[in-house]
Amino acid sequence: MTESYPIRPEAAAAPTSGIVDTVNYGRTREGLIPLWVGEGDLATPAFISEAATRSLAAGETFYTYQRGIPELRAAIARRQGAILGKEIDPERIFVTSGGMPAVQMALRLVAGAGDEVVIPTPAWPNFVGALTVSGATPVEVALDPSPEGFSLDLARLEAALTPRTRAIVINSPANPTGWTATREELAAILEIARARGLWIVSDEIYTRFVWDERVMVGERAASFHDVMRPDDRVLFVQTLSKNYAMTGWRVGWLEAPAELGQTIENLVQYSTSGTPVFVQRAAIAALDHGEGFVQHQIARARRGRAIVAEALATLNAVRFAPPPGAFYAFFGIPGADSQVLARRIVDEANVGLAPGSAFGAGGADGLRLCFARKADDLEEAMRRLAPVLRDLPI
Ligand code: PMP
Repeated sequence: MTESYPIRPEAAAAPTSGIVDTVNYGRTREGLIPLWVGEGDLATPAFISEAATRSLAAGETFYTYQRGIPELRAAIARRQGAILGKEIDPERIFVTSGGMPAVQMALRLVAGAGDEVVIPTPAWPNFVGALTVSGATPVEVALDPSPEGFSLDLARLEAALTPRTRAIVINSPANPTGWTATREELAAILEIARARGLWIVSDEIYTRFVWDERVMVGERAASFHDVMRPDDRVLFVQTLSKNYAMTGWRVGWLEAPAELGQTIENLVQYSTSGTPVFVQRAAIAALDHGEGFVQHQIARARRGRAIVAEALATLNAVRFAPPPGAFYAFFGIPGADSQVLARRIVDEANVGLAPGSAFGAGGADGLRLCFARKADDLEEAMRRLAPVLRDLPI
């Protein structure tokens, strides 16, 4: 095929998502409980959708600011400032069409052909995908699984750095492992980056979903914002997708030094050319009036985590520690092939889980389960899973 249609090797090398493989296998099964993708079961609250329909009715259907409409940039800065306990300059905020474009933009700013970017894994596969497409080389550093949970060995992180390294991607709280850095770990990672002049791309989209006091600052996860100086080289990825049940809207932001504003504006121009105004109006409504909904989602995920953790604790074949952050249980079945097992679970339990092999080094024998869902579904899913998992290893 590539002979008839020659394309860039970087595009041809873009990996197929291992999650999609399982979803395609099971998507038409009747009664399947889908816990394989990273989203909850609640639709966007009406007050958010209504802000978009009002905007459409008012004719806001034109091209707009590449950096985002000023009202949304201000709303993001206000809301983030309140969450972080720190003043955020709206000039640092660049609206993107979701968290994924913010990841892509961040990586495009700092790494290209011949460059390496270090990523603790198992990780959300899109980091590796975005790097591959841009021609840069992802360098995976596997998190250590232990009975207490995943941890990042900073000496190994440092050992993975080479003269070609341009950036370190840190996703804390992490998808899929729930690994969450302490404030001290973030400070140590920042020191490593500073010493070598590296960028940090910090994906903190799950910061509100945090369950362990040791990794918390106030009610959220520790952030690079807690330890950085204004001139540190940190790019932040954020999204409205998870907090406000807006995965399908495609709106998020990149936070970057204001000095990069013109460059980022140019990159937006040559990719999406901006995020629709009516979507941005909805985002403002979410940020200004959505805190009650976010709290509701956090409470549901906390309950979901407890249901799943309690059920997994009874299964000897399963290696699992309740995650300190995010809304996934990532558990291991020593010796299993997760792709095979995820299909078997579709067949025998009618539950959709994501195979750990989709998430890179360290994930091969794992399964990811999203617990941002109503309790009834999770209880039923765990009832169905128990007999399959109890009989393992296969
Ligand atoms: N970062 C991480 C760690 C994620 O898990 C996701 C979504 N699964 C995103 C970014 C992107 O979110 P979106 O593009 O839907 O806003």
